[in-house]
Amino acid sequence: MRFASLGSGSKGNSTIIEAGSTVVLVDCGFGIRSLTTRLLARNVVPEQITAILITHEHSDHWKGVEVLSAKFNIPVYLSAGCFKARNISVDSKNFHIIDSHTDFVVGDLNVTPVPVPHDAREPVQYVFTDGMVRLGILTDLGHYTPHVISVYSQCHGLLLEANYDEEMLAMGPYPRFLKDRVSGLFGHLSNRQALDLLKKLDLSYLQRLLLGHISDKNNDTNIISELLSTADLGGTAITFADQDVGSDWQELG
Ligand SMILES: [Zn+2]
Ligand SMILES: [Zn+2]
Repeated sequence: MRFASLGSGSKGNSTIIEAGSTVVLVDCGFGIRSLTTRLLARNVVPEQITAILITHEHSDHWKGVEVLSAKFNIPVYLSAGCFKARNISVDSKNFHIIDSHTDFVVGDLNVTPVPVPHDAREPVQYVFTDGMVRLGILTDLGHYTPHVISVYSQCHGLLLEANYDEEMLAMGPYPRFLKDRVSGLFGHLSNRQALDLLKKLDLSYLQRLLLGHISDKNNDTNIISELLSTADLGGTAITFADQDVGSDWQELG
């Protein structure tokens, strides 16, 4: 299995996961032209996409979903709350409502949806396995729950949100209400909270850690690196996904 961020941050998020001939896109917060370019940079064409899985309805995760699905006839999996939160403007026959508490299968991948606290209608994040390795995708998380700790333990790959540095957010340009939203129980994980979560997870299998949804106004990858150096991450390869480029393919063996 391998995965890559196609771009991550408040201006758009999308992650690609490949296992055998199965290609899954998690979210599509980019317009179709931008998405196609980002796919091509990783030698993928939209026709190869098996399914699009949605975490929640915020536009940085949704922007290109309807057009991409309609143009290439790609099934979309999403929670009932997310479906309701969006007035789907295209023929909705490609949209499949999942049970947020029940695993489902997409091609060669078993998918575990994980309900998470975030200010959306019925947000979920996902853990994937091809039977050999496990990959967790975890962004847009207000705070971590016991369920999150249990499901995201023993992953071989992890895309984790490290959204903001607490001091930079407090001192930064955001208006009060936005600072409160981001740092609240249903907002985003700070670097410190991401580190706390990492310390609680069983990371004994973790090969690759990809940090994402990093704020360009309220964070700095040097600060994240410094914090991570205090955690015992063994031989785990650490990469940052950015807004413009995302990341290279992350291979899980
Ligand atoms: Zn987001
Ligand atoms: Zn969000």
